[in-house]
Amino acid sequence: MKPPICAICNKDFRVNIKSGGKVWFNISDEDKTINDANNEEIGFIAHPRGLAWFCGEHLDIAKKYSHLELKEAFIVIRKELNL
Ligand SMILES: [Zn+2]
Repeated sequence: MKPPICAICNKDFRVNIKSGGKVWFNISDEDKTINDANNEEIGFIAHPRGLAWFCGEHLDIAKKYSHLELKEAFIVIRKELNL
């Protein structure tokens, strides 16, 4: 599991974990297969694909695009934020 660092701005909010949150994105069939393989090998310790942390500032926009796959969502979010 990754530490709570915003996937958009890299803000580390470990000190105040409730200021942000986790968002599950859609995962492709390919990623699902990888997840299953990883889980069998090393248990459930690995950070699952399709899951990302966001600070309070970026949590809403992340949820707005959570129906997309992570890669696609990042492209759209960055575009919307002019990053
Ligand atoms: Zn952020």
